[in-house]
Amino acid sequence: MHHAPHIAIVGAGIAGLACATALQQSGFNVAIFDKSRGPAGRMSTRRGDGWQCDHGAQYFTARDAGFRAEVARWERAGAAAPWYPVVQRFDTAGARLCAPAERFVGTPRMSAPAALLASTLALRTEVTISALQREGAGWRLHAHGAGPLAHCYDAVVLALPAPQAAPLLREVAPVQAALAQSTTMPGCWALMLQYPAPLALGFDAAFVNHGPLRWVARDSAKPGRGGAESWLLHASAAWSETHIEDDADSVAAHLLAAFAALGGPAPQGWSAHRWRHASTAPAREEVCIWEAADGLGLCGDWLNGGTVEAAWLS
Ligand code: FAD
Repeated sequence: MHHAPHIAIVGAGIAGLACATALQQSGFNVAIFDKSRGPAGRMSTRRGDGWQCDHGAQYFTARDAGFRAEVARWERAGAAAPWYPVVQRFDTAGARLCAPAERFVGTPRMSAPAALLASTLALRTEVTISALQREGAGWRLHAHGAGPLAHCYDAVVLALPAPQAAPLLREVAPVQAALAQSTTMPGCWALMLQYPAPLALGFDAAFVNHGPLRWVARDSAKPGRGGAESWLLHASAAWSETHIEDDADSVAAHLLAAFAALGGPAPQGWSAHRWRHASTAPAREEVCIWEAADGLGLCGDWLNGGTVEAAWLS
């Protein structure tokens, strides 16, 4: 009896979701797993009491024709919109306005495109894949706390950050494990700030090229947002790596002092998030990896340049 090959995708960030969608549309039987409570990975949004804030990816580009068409589809579904912020650049020499650029965001939050993609897929959340095992010509997946999963898959695709793919590959694909292992993905501290009223800083977002900060954005100025005034601070990769094991109180004190130097007042409340693997440096050029003989694939931003667009294309 002929049946459509069963493919397991591990990771429901934008790369895994795009891969799963493409395979499903081509007639494959696809199951996608993520360890988190929902899809989106680093395109995520934290929600609190009356506020929300994108604390991973801040915006995305759409330069590739295929990705532009996909973003247009997201826009028609109300899951994305262009964002035209007033952007400053703060250098040691002072501040200057950045030229306008085309940027998109998820609406009403950054995780919306992932939710849209996941709505047509068989996604299982809160399943952490802990091992891959060869079984005949296929693959058996093991989940943390649950042991081997019931199904045996014809192929598996790891759509994970390199440091999370490496341990799964070590026993079964040492060459690919070494590639993932050799990829550095520095962390990033994110601080989400809440205010009772809009701030008048004269900019919606800023690149900061000195001190601990790298990026500042008024989340509540992005299209489709409601709720309380909300700002996001990202520390630079270098500062985050040096302070990755610091406690959140100490990190917040440093980042709030740096924000104060840009005119930012003390917030009513704050919430911190530590991304252990935020960005890819340096970018690789593989785009994706497919080992046909083994039925093993790898995709994700780390193979293609470290952005949302790169991850989707991968
Ligand atoms: P991810 O989104 O990381 O998805 C991987 C998924 O795998 C996650 O959902 C995770 O929960 C899951 N997972 C991990 N291990 C397991 C396991 N063992 N079992 C099951 N599931 C597992 N990009 C831009 O284009 N513009 C920006 O402004 C921008 N800013 C950024 C700021 C920060 C702080 C960060 C962190 C990233 C930023 N990026 C930005 C990068 C962008 O977010 C990523 O390039 C893109 O989201 C990566 O998608 P992905 O699918 O490759 O990986």
